[in-house]
Amino acid sequence: MGRHRHRRSLTAKQALLTLAIALLLSVLAGAIELALDARKMRQEVVHQTQHRLELVDGTAAEAAFQLNPDLANQVVEGLFSGGRVASVVLRDDFGRIMAERHRAYQAPSDWLTRALFGDILHYKEALDYRAGVGSLDEPMGELELTLALDSLGRDFISRSLLIFSLGVIKALAIAALLAIAFHAYITRPLLQVHAAIVSADPRQPGRWPKPAMGGHANDELGHLVESLDELLNAFQQGLEQRDRLHQISTMDGLTGIANRRRFDDFLTQEWQRAHRCGHPLSVIFLDIDHFKEFNDHYGHVAGDDTLRAMAETLTRVVNRASDLVARYGGEEFVCVLPDTDLEGARQVADRIRQAIHDLNIPHAHSTQAGRVTASLGVASAFPADGRSDRATLLAQADSQLYRAKHQGRDRVASQT
Ligand code: GH3
Ligand code: MG
Ligand code: MG
Repeated sequence: MGRHRHRRSLTAKQALLTLAIALLLSVLAGAIELALDARKMRQEVVHQTQHRLELVDGTAAEAAFQLNPDLANQVVEGLFSGGRVASVVLRDDFGRIMAERHRAYQAPSDWLTRALFGDILHYKEALDYRAGVGSLDEPMGELELTLALDSLGRDFISRSLLIFSLGVIKALAIAALLAIAFHAYITRPLLQVHAAIVSADPRQPGRWPKPAMGGHANDELGHLVESLDELLNAFQQGLEQRDRLHQISTMDGLTGIANRRRFDDFLTQEWQRAHRCGHPLSVIFLDIDHFKEFNDHYGHVAGDDTLRAMAETLTRVVNRASDLVARYGGEEFVCVLPDTDLEGARQVADRIRQAIHDLNIPHAHSTQAGRVTASLGVASAFPADGRSDRATLLAQADSQLYRAKHQGRDRVASQT
């Protein structure tokens, strides 16, 4: 869900920003274009109107000279029908109106049209008539023309509307194209990176599905992915180192089985679990018989080999997933058997004793049958009954071990 929200917001923000900028620019450009356009239109209007007046100049003078109302009407009509004209008046040299046309219209009130065209509406032309070669020009009358402000305004407004609507369409098109390009080149790759990070396994961050950045290999996006990759790999190395250190700190260096620290944690945890579940919990202590003599006779290297063989045997015999075999220290081992009562623990201890016999490691200086043997002490408790604690359980197993030693070694002793 979050991914979709991000996608919309990033692309939409970019699109809105582009649209705003494009609109602003097109309004500015439109205003400049219109200002230039208005100047050109003014020049054109003045030029065209003067040209129209010049065209009829001779005929109008003749009409005034001859005092010919038909001709005067023709001239006025001709000018009037040319469009954009509010009124045309033709006067003779006494100022009497010979012909006129007016259009009823409402002067537009908007200031822009008036400001743009208000000063170029009125034209007055004196009509000179050259009676013959060498004679002087004499004014015969005058032709007066007023342009219609409303039609000039309408033309201008419709041109403005066209320019502005084209500008808006251009702005929309630019914004849409940029939004699509932005989405394709930036937002989508970013979403890919985000999806890859989200789908990474937090326990193995270095194995994240690093996205192929295609065309972005050498730009900021590519660098971002590379940096992320390095960071996640470094993170993974840190996790692996932590796991290694943790394993080392809970493992016995000589035999590779759990050490005393791991045993303490495990017993605490299992005691609580047994307390909650109402299960029994048993412990077996094991001490190799006459191991000092073994070392003295066969050397410490052989002694170490024997300790490793002992650890392997214990691990093989005590094989339930919930059990723990640990080296307690020196040549002493301990087994924790969750959910196992005294009788069950006794059986396990017997199997261990037998398996050590079966190893058949020679020990000439042992009183026990010439091979390596061990003594085992077994104790069990019901943590839920509240009558015992961990330390007591360990002390009981230890005292049973002492009893086994005392009774002649190579045997299992347990609570009765
Ligand atoms: P007992 O039958 O009464 O147990 O006699 P023991 O000789 O085994 O007596 P004890 O348990 O006191 O002997 C401990 C000996 O175990 C001392 C040392 O020679 C040997 N030992 C302890 N740790 C190591 C070790 O890491 N490597 C080797 N090779 N020997 C060890
Ligand atoms: Mg010992
Ligand atoms: Mg011993």
